[in-house]
Amino acid sequence: MSGSPVMHPQTTQTTALSDDDPASESMMKSPTTSGREYRGNEYPIPATMKAWVLGDPEELALVEKPVPQPGPAEVLVRVDAIAVCATDIEIIRHGLPAMVDGGLPFNRGFTPGHEYMGTVVRLGPSVDEFEIGDRIAVEVHAGCGRCQRCREGMYTACLNYGYPRKGHRANGFSTDGGFAEYAVNSVNTMVHVPDDMTDEEATLVVTAGTAMYGLDVMAGIIAGEGVVVIGPGPIGLMGVGVAKALGAQPVILSGTRDRRLEIGRRLGADEIVNVTREEPVAAVERITRGKGVQYVLECSGAPNAVDEAARMVNRGGRICLAAFPANPVPVDLAYLVRNNIYVFGIRGEGRSATHRAAALMAQKRFDAKLIHTHTFPLTEVPTAIRYARERIEDAIKVVVKIREK
Ligand SMILES: [Zn+2]
Ligand SMILES: [Zn+2]
Repeated sequence: MSGSPVMHPQTTQTTALSDDDPASESMMKSPTTSGREYRGNEYPIPATMKAWVLGDPEELALVEKPVPQPGPAEVLVRVDAIAVCATDIEIIRHGLPAMVDGGLPFNRGFTPGHEYMGTVVRLGPSVDEFEIGDRIAVEVHAGCGRCQRCREGMYTACLNYGYPRKGHRANGFSTDGGFAEYAVNSVNTMVHVPDDMTDEEATLVVTAGTAMYGLDVMAGIIAGEGVVVIGPGPIGLMGVGVAKALGAQPVILSGTRDRRLEIGRRLGADEIVNVTREEPVAAVERITRGKGVQYVLECSGAPNAVDEAARMVNRGGRICLAAFPANPVPVDLAYLVRNNIYVFGIRGEGRSATHRAAALMAQKRFDAKLIHTHTFPLTEVPTAIRYARERIEDAIKVVVKIREK
């Protein structure tokens, strides 16, 4: 790669395979003819692909762009399905938290989308962790592997976030994502999908991974301990499923929408609390007979959520914030300090949480499919995003199915 500080995202993702690289020999059974048409693979891979790219804010266009090539420790994934995330909507509207080459992602040929699954169709040099034809789900962040946080295993908090020339990648955030026919992934960002898991369900692995990471950072025992999940959005609902699968007791879900709360019950919530009918702190007190819970996973972003969570946990309890309010809010800090309450913030799905969430899903410990509500084809990504953004027909997880099997 050149030392130029500003690079086009496409060039940063297109690590050319060298014909004389011994590690790539096995994939080069027959020589390339055009330099773009890859041969010697089980899957024929075209030179170009359909991909949605971000222009100005709120401007997505379906274009034809080169199929990226995997570098060392990377594979090319044929994207089979992708779920729309609230963060995609943020990125398309405001740019952040996506960051391409240190700047906003607009008008750089950037492809958003990060909750995808697919099939491995080409291996980069030295890759033996996966085989052509493997079905995989992805996590977002590969990190850079060279900064302090990545070395500590906190790759979702990479200090080189947004700088692919420093080796950082987070697909759909700082490198091209999955609203496209193909995407390059680091071998560190993929987990095998079992045959009996549908493409649609596999797109939910990353969401469940985020919920798992939230429980991880609170570093508790979970089994036999009380967990409140505030907010039955996709992460909250997956949080219920994961907490229950890990043996939490009781798991209490609070929110405003009966239909979503009911899905939470089917995912394993012992108690659901509709906050329009019962004050949630009083409800937790009632359910736990005044003891409170050990953990709150806050997934609502409501302005009063931290104060409420603080009164749901018992002394020494832990709160993980997986959502946040749009504006700064006052918080009763004295209450947190006096009661030795810990508050954590999480970004993404670190510590390989995706692998653990996928394992629980593969063992059918909770039914993630319950949150999948709508499906659209690749040509209708803007409609899919509109359904998710406006919660049309009570949409929870909207999936774009790119490949019909
Ligand atoms: Zn997401
Ligand atoms: Zn890093």
